Amino acid sequence: MMSQLKCRYGDDEFQYKVIYLPQREKLRRRKIAIHIHPHGSVQVDVPEDTVTTEIRQAVSKRARWVVKHLAEIRERQQDVFPRQYISGESHFYLGRRYMLKVNHTPRAASEVKLLRGRLNIATVDKSPDAVKVLLWQWYKAHAKNTFQRRLAVLVEQASWARISRPGIRLLTMKRQWGSCSPKGHIILNPHLVKAPRDCIDYVILHELCHLREHNHSPKFYRLLGMLMPDWQSVKARLDNMSETLLNQ
Ligand SMILES: [Zn+2]
Repeated sequence: MMSQLKCRYGDDEFQYKVIYLPQREKLRRRKIAIHIHPHGSVQVDVPEDTVTTEIRQAVSKRARWVVKHLAEIRERQQDVFPRQYISGESHFYLGRRYMLKVNHTPRAASEVKLLRGRLNIATVDKSPDAVKVLLWQWYKAHAKNTFQRRLAVLVEQASWARISRPGIRLLTMKRQWGSCSPKGHIILNPHLVKAPRDCIDYVILHELCHLREHNHSPKFYRLLGMLMPDWQSVKARLDNMSETLLNQ
């Protein structure tokens, strides 16, 4: 036997399926057991003689915990599925998650602004396609700025590049953060601006080392290790985030 019930918690609401278990199968430790499945469905196991009010009470006691878990599941799913470019969705910038807020403005000039932990977009056209274009322009502008600022600092540590002063080019890539051109430009993926600053530094330093050592020889890694002794752990963190950050 089973039934479907609802629980409200503040502004949130979730549905849950109640499974009535025969007495002999009931769990020993807790009379009522709440399970949250990986895809976000909530199941409540109860002994078969439990009355509905008792179930509702037990669930609402743990509602805060359920709502928190469901929010985490939504966030994880959001990172893997294509972005929708609507209010409430989160996007990354310099390693932090910002909630997107799309507002309609009657004025022709659109605007993207970071304000109080939110990524606010004011636009005439609220369609996901239009929002995506605006947000991507914003990312590219901030990427160029951030990368140039970091390169100016980091190039001071790379004596071989101090005089040539390599320039930065942006190139959107599917699975690569950076490379360098034969002419000595550093090419960086604008998506990298979504990563924490030390990850950005790692990619820039990696490419700076390539200006002197063009392959991944032991010499190359010695050089990199001198500039960033903990590069391996920084790289591991960036690798872990790659799928999320490259997913637009
Ligand atoms: Zn390399």
